[in-house]
Amino acid sequence: MKAAPFDHHAPTSLAEAHDLLARHGPDATLIAGGQSLVPLMALRLARPRVLVDLNGVAGLAGIRDEPDAVTVGALTRQRAVERSPVVAARLPLLAEAVGRIGHPQVRNRGTVGGSLALGHPAAELPAAALALDATVVLAGIGGVEREVAAGDFHTATGGTALRAGEVLTRVRYPVPPAGTGHGFHELGRRARDFALAGAAVVLGRGGDGGCAYARVAVLGGGPAPRRLPGVERALRGGPLDAEAIAEAAAGAAAEAEPVGDVQADAGYRREVLVTLVRRALSDAARRARPTH
Ligand code: FAD
Repeated sequence: MKAAPFDHHAPTSLAEAHDLLARHGPDATLIAGGQSLVPLMALRLARPRVLVDLNGVAGLAGIRDEPDAVTVGALTRQRAVERSPVVAARLPLLAEAVGRIGHPQVRNRGTVGGSLALGHPAAELPAAALALDATVVLAGIGGVEREVAAGDFHTATGGTALRAGEVLTRVRYPVPPAGTGHGFHELGRRARDFALAGAAVVLGRGGDGGCAYARVAVLGGGPAPRRLPGVERALRGGPLDAEAIAEAAAGAAAEAEPVGDVQADAGYRREVLVTLVRRALSDAARRARPTH
């Protein structure tokens, strides 16, 4: 099928993009990598009258290494994140999660900002952003910026905090404390399909080797990516042995609210989530070093 007719604008600055968004209002839709929007347009599930193409906008792409954080521009291709030595060294969870998105062809075009703005509940990057306590930076018409914690960016019902006319410009990932370990596991029907469910985890050990820090997020665990604070509480202050990890992971069954669809029913996703959370926690515990 072919997309419905549309006008295409290629601004070269954020100000120009905002002018177009202001001029065309609800008729305008941003396009970044096009890896989700173009298939939706081809199926006529999306019919934007005006496309505002971010690909030529200066300053939206790039990975910045900062003292306590790594900031990734919204237009940074997923493949660039996957291949970045800075991301591999400082945010290994993000490197692992991004490499699980679709095929290399998809990651060559797909962007970090596009994935977060779309907010698919089974997408890797929103769950990684939650586990890493990232902050999303949004720029509104007039250039006014606001920062939204990843935990507030995706709403419980599957929407985002983006307001009309806003562009997601970058994502700031604080580097987890020294010695923390990460884990990422997902399951799909076929390799490279969208995942049915998955888990992204960061764990830190205290001087006694017990759990001092835990962030656990899941994909496919509801209509939106979600954190599992109950699982985190169950881990904190306790040992990080196989028994404690299995017990905490079992809590994912009660805390997640997976939705059934044509790929898998909610009960199957719930069961799988427990196993994936346990595996991600086990990897993270193995990688975490005691800190004093
Ligand atoms: P686009 O498709 O250009 O846009 C998506 C949406 O985000 C649009 O509504 C657009 O208006 C909005 N948007 C884009 N950028 C911004 C911005 N900066 N500010 C505000 N709004 C913005 N994804 C996964 O997570 N996991 C997978 O396993 C996976 N598998 C895939 C397999 C295939 C075959 C394909 C085609 C896609 C797959 N994807 C998968 C989707 C892929 O990751 C997309 O790249 C991503 O979801 C959207 O990013 P994009 O840059 O292509 O955004």
